[in-house]
Amino acid sequence: MPAVTVENPLELPRVVQTLAGDRPRRVKSITTAPRGIEGEGFPVRRAFAGIDMVDLDPFIHLDQMGEIDYGPGEPKGTPWHPHRGFETVTYMIEGTFLHQDSIGGGGVIQNGATQWMTAGAGILHIERPPDALIDSGGLFHGFQLWVNLPARLKMTTPRYQDIEAEAISMLTNDQGDAIIRVIAGSLGDAGGPGVTHTPISIVHVSLMPGGQLVLPWNPAYNALTYALAGQGTVGLDRNPLVEGQMAVHVDGDFLVLSANETQDSRTQAFEVLILGGEPIREPVATYGPFVMNTREELQQAFEDYQAGRLGQIPANHI
Ligand code: MN
Repeated sequence: MPAVTVENPLELPRVVQTLAGDRPRRVKSITTAPRGIEGEGFPVRRAFAGIDMVDLDPFIHLDQMGEIDYGPGEPKGTPWHPHRGFETVTYMIEGTFLHQDSIGGGGVIQNGATQWMTAGAGILHIERPPDALIDSGGLFHGFQLWVNLPARLKMTTPRYQDIEAEAISMLTNDQGDAIIRVIAGSLGDAGGPGVTHTPISIVHVSLMPGGQLVLPWNPAYNALTYALAGQGTVGLDRNPLVEGQMAVHVDGDFLVLSANETQDSRTQAFEVLILGGEPIREPVATYGPFVMNTREELQQAFEDYQAGRLGQIPANHI
């Protein structure tokens, strides 16, 4: 159950309507995210596996973290590690992550909060559960998205933004059976709180059983829908989409989502993450934590990291 919610969705502003002549986006592909292990051993689903980079642009990587119900002593995080050339967006639906970085940024990400980190020219950071959560165990569910930077911004000054859950814009549909959270970018008139270098929209929708959502989507943006929990369909022609599956939507002005009448016992709603952005259309070279344009720039990033030029672990580190 997402932490950012409302008692009565009908009190929320309505999402913008489609216009006469608007066309629904066609579903190009549906893929199932394989499971993997990240950091010091927390379970993730690699949501972009098997999808053409051209369809993902400007996004690079998406991990769904959990959902997992940890026992005492089980919660895990990452060691200190570097990044260069892109931005990370971390959104916690359930549970808590502590963050600290080499530019003085840091904080607690929990219960609907978002953390936006522009690695730019270079940063070191760590993400881990707080000691109390390691001791107690508990639910952990969120995602981390990597947003590419264009060549002219790859070496920009690193930046850290902590976005509290209260800052997220919430909307609904005419029936009031959808909660639409604008985490970053904009959706119609509704602006999200994240300041982004690359124009994007990140939206988290909870669609009640049997509900349908028609969502206008910037035709210049790509469009990806990922089922975080539950089951439903995407597109006017109702392509099934269930937990752990990603759909690529092309050519059109709006998206259509429907939630099945029956959801599984673990979720009350069809929980969908919707991503879109302006494609950067540049060559992409990636190696581990670095996302650059060429192999030479990757080599330089690795050398700069070895020489300590991506930052230092702060003396007061967690
Ligand atoms: Mn990282």
